[in-house]
Amino acid sequence: MEKVRTRFAPSPTGYMHIGNLRTALYEYLVAKKDDGTFILRIEDTDQERLVEGAVDLIYTTLKECGLDHDEGPDVGGDYGSYVQSERMASGIYKEYAEKLIELGGAHYCFCSEDDIHRQKEEAEAKGVSFKYNDPCHNMTLEEARQRIANGEKYVVRQNIPLTGTTSFDDEVYGHIEVENSILDESILLKSDGFPTYNFANIIDDHMMNITHVVRGNEYLSSTPKYNLVYQAFGWNIPKYIHLPPVMKDEHHKLSKRNGDASFQDLVAKGYLPAAILNYIALLGWSPETEQEIYSLDELKKAFSVERISKSPAIFDIEKLTWMNGMY
Ligand code: GLU
Repeated sequence: MEKVRTRFAPSPTGYMHIGNLRTALYEYLVAKKDDGTFILRIEDTDQERLVEGAVDLIYTTLKECGLDHDEGPDVGGDYGSYVQSERMASGIYKEYAEKLIELGGAHYCFCSEDDIHRQKEEAEAKGVSFKYNDPCHNMTLEEARQRIANGEKYVVRQNIPLTGTTSFDDEVYGHIEVENSILDESILLKSDGFPTYNFANIIDDHMMNITHVVRGNEYLSSTPKYNLVYQAFGWNIPKYIHLPPVMKDEHHKLSKRNGDASFQDLVAKGYLPAAILNYIALLGWSPETEQEIYSLDELKKAFSVERISKSPAIFDIEKLTWMNGMY
């Protein structure tokens, strides 16, 4: 059997709340349950959203929780750098974007923001949903290359088939199928040469031989687009494990911006990392027995993807307080 390789791939855009930490924990457990490899990769290509100190907070949080990664920026590994802004320097994302264009999975686009805005306004005026109809589709590769040689600015956009559906099986949400006509042609490479988060994420998951992708269900709707990229390259698609959100209450998700349920705050208030881990392990996953108190080692043995729930979980400080008292 193929060795399991999972990755926690945070964007350093704030502190870690317990929902982020739960993703890391489940990634860790999926790998360790099968003696696999747990990787940390920093996804920092969206430079505008970076928050100072966020990377250090990721390291310290994982360390305090004992979620030791086998490969990552601080411990190394066989896949070069594990920080996307450093990986970018070697030109890999641009090379892959060009390869994808040659394979028919993407195209160069020279449209300005104004062109796109105009179409959007027209669609709004007609009351129809907006999907950019990109005239650059009709350009030959030679013409596009000539325009680039002449110094014109461009982006690389994904090609989406006009008809048909794209489907995949998520380990938590089951069979997902979408009409291609509703998928927009996302930008993969920006005009400043930076890859978008989506593109760098796909390339790195492939290059790092990731077998299982665990992440929040806010990525479920983009996953068909990712899969079209995998298919265009002829790559194996990883298994997907999308997690329901952790909620602050019935209507609101935990949010990094609002300072909700920060791991560091909870620790400062006297909650033990082991109790927090135990609590979040059970937040969305139910063991087969009534057991409620687990060590990390016990979790590694007991954890199973089949028992992850797809309903959102509500963060309950009283339950955490009770659990903390058991340690
Ligand atoms: N960098 C993404 C985030 O922080 C991770 C998404 C993924 O795991 O694919 O939300």
